Order: sequence, then C-alpha cells, then structure tokens
Amino acid sequence: MPPPRTREKALRHRLAELRGPEVPAKALDARALAALAANPGCRRRAILDGAGVNKAVLADALGSPSVFGQSQFAFVRGNAFEAKVKADGGTELLRLAYEKLDRAAEPPADARVPDLTAQGPRGRTARTELALREATEAPGAWTLLDHPMLALEVAGSPAFLEPDAVVVHPDGSWTVVEIKSFPMLDGAADPAKVGAAARQAAVYVLALERVAARLDPAPRVRHRILLVCPKDFSNLPTASAVDVRKQRAVTARQLDRLTRIEEIADTLPEGTCFSPELPAERLTQAVEAVPATYAPECLSACELAFHCRDRSRAQDAVTRLGRPVRAELGGLTTVGDVLAAARGEAGDPDDPAVAALRRAAALRAEALETAALLEVAPCP
Ligand code: SF4
Repeated sequence: MPPPRTREKALRHRLAELRGPEVPAKALDARALAALAANPGCRRRAILDGAGVNKAVLADALGSPSVFGQSQFAFVRGNAFEAKVKADGGTELLRLAYEKLDRAAEPPADARVPDLTAQGPRGRTARTELALREATEAPGAWTLLDHPMLALEVAGSPAFLEPDAVVVHPDGSWTVVEIKSFPMLDGAADPAKVGAAARQAAVYVLALERVAARLDPAPRVRHRILLVCPKDFSNLPTASAVDVRKQRAVTARQLDRLTRIEEIADTLPEGTCFSPELPAERLTQAVEAVPATYAPECLSACELAFHCRDRSRAQDAVTRLGRPVRAELGGLTTVGDVLAAARGEAGDPDDPAVAALRRAAALRAEALETAALLEVAPCP
C-alpha cells in the first residue's frame, strides 16, 4: 500500500478530476457539514461534498435548480436581531447563557469580549484559539467570543467555520451559541428548524472539541448549546438550551466516513466528471453513477433535492415517502411492489410487511363498503 502522503495526493488529484478541470473547490461550511447528518447514508452527497463540487451550480446545470438561500429581507432582519442580542458587550446574551445553562455560577458582570480580528481565515482561527486559551486559563469571569473562527479537518482539508458566538463560562467550560431569527412561541420553536440549528451547532461543538484537545488540561465543551430566538412575535430575545449529543455523534460518524470518500471515488467509472460545463445528459449520467438515498428531509438540506426527488419518482422508489414508511416496508422498494403486495398479486404472505399491507387493504375495502351502504341506506 502506498504511504499516506502519496495516497492523500492521489485522492486530491482524483477529487479535482471529479470536480472538473479549472473548477475551484467549494469550501465546506457548517451548513453543508450539518446537512451530512440529515442524510447520513447518501454516497452521492458524500462524494460531491468531498470533491468540493458546488451543488447549487450543479443542480442548475442539471435543470433542477435548488431553492436555497435567504431572502434579502430575512437576511437583514436576522442581522438586526443578532446585533440586538449582542449589543452592549453581549449583556443580554450572557444573561440568557447564565439563566439557561449555568445558574450555579456568578451572574455575568464586566464580561470580557476579546477582539478577534486577524488576517484571513487561518489568522482568525489562530486568534480565536489564543482567545479561548486566555479565557480558559484565567477562569472566574464570563467571556464572549463574537464570531470566532474554527477549523475542522474534513477529508484532508480544513473547513473554516464561524459560529455566531462562543461563551466561556467562569468554570472554564465552553458553550456554542446559535442565534436564529425564527420565533420561539411560548418557549417552543418549529422542531424542524430547531433540528437544523442543532445539527449546525453540533458541527461547531466538534470543531471546538478539536481546539480543547490541544489545551492542557482540556476544557469541557458543553453538549447543550444556547439557541437564541425572538420571543413570540416580538423582537425581544429569548433562549433555550438544546442538547446536541445525538447530532454531534451522527456528524462525527459522517465526517469519519467522509475521509473514506476514496472508496466511493474508486467505484466510479473512469472519466466521471461533475463539471457544470458538461452537457446536461453527461452530467446526469455522472450523478446517476453514484447511489443516492433520497428522503423528503433532503428538500431542506441539499441543493440536489429536486433532481434526486425526480429520479426517485421516476424509479417509483418508496424512499420518497419518508424514512419511517421506508423502514416499515422491508424488502418492498417500489410503490408498484407495495400495491401489488397489498392486492395479493405478489409478495410472500409470511413477510410481516406484506401481511400488514394485506390487512390494511382488507380494512380499507371493508370501510369503503360500509360507507357505500350508509350512503344508499334510507333515513330511518
Ligand atoms: S438530495 Fe440527493 S444528493 Fe442530496 S442528500 Fe438527498 S439523495 Fe443525497
């Protein structure tokens, strides 16, 4: 087996070929990394992200443009809310951190807010690490890091990530802060949006853990993050502590798998290329050469969702009905198979999924029959 450096170089070369000549690599950000956790089994997404393919541009070239991105209005509103939360040296934000996460500590007063400006992402990452080290080595006070920069090694290259904030508690532990502009109504927000925020925060937690591991003693990175949102229909901030242990574990597993994209790349036919310059037909062939596991969750997490959904429909695949339904259907992989099994035309009657479908079909027929009888029955 060639030495690791040679292998890494060969992999980089292969990934550059897949991306296309002269096509710059798209850097991975926290949103992209978090989306990996939304659909952990998708090899298509893994290889495209690993090769630095711009999936939004690819989706355009395939003729199924994505609808990702914030409106200008939402962007401005989000920025204004974040500025409000962090105003006055982060007084309100730290109060929320104290109230939701660390009641046993001294209430925040005269918190430190170090200047994190530096040249380029590497400079900002080094500056953030220094600020975290200084805050942790001098505990007893609250410290707020406003837009720190963290690096996470993904498939051999660093991804630079910028959380909204990181709080260093008086005991030296660290908390990730996510500030979102969707409302928290009566203390609860839309679970899908909270889930997406938790997956994103889990990526920051992983990156912070890498920094913590370089310190001696390593500070604790808290697995409950602080999610700050507008309260009800106002512009006042409120917060909730969100446990991201599960999302952190899934993302960590996914990132480990990403480093093995070499295996996926090896299965692709010679000449496979995802360059948006190629004709749509060739591009479609290249994309179809990598297996995908489409699920409705892709619609809110991946730029290729419309393309993959169309293919999934064309193949009559049950995956488009959602993971829970897919899991219930066992070996039945197409809607046609399911209907045939329900009608008794195909399938093994001893298969629990087939038996359940036949029972459901019989109950439905019975219910329709009863409804028809009631409709024609004369009034008493
Ligand atoms: S949209 Fe397609 S490529 Fe993206 S995660 Fe879903 S199945 Fe994979």
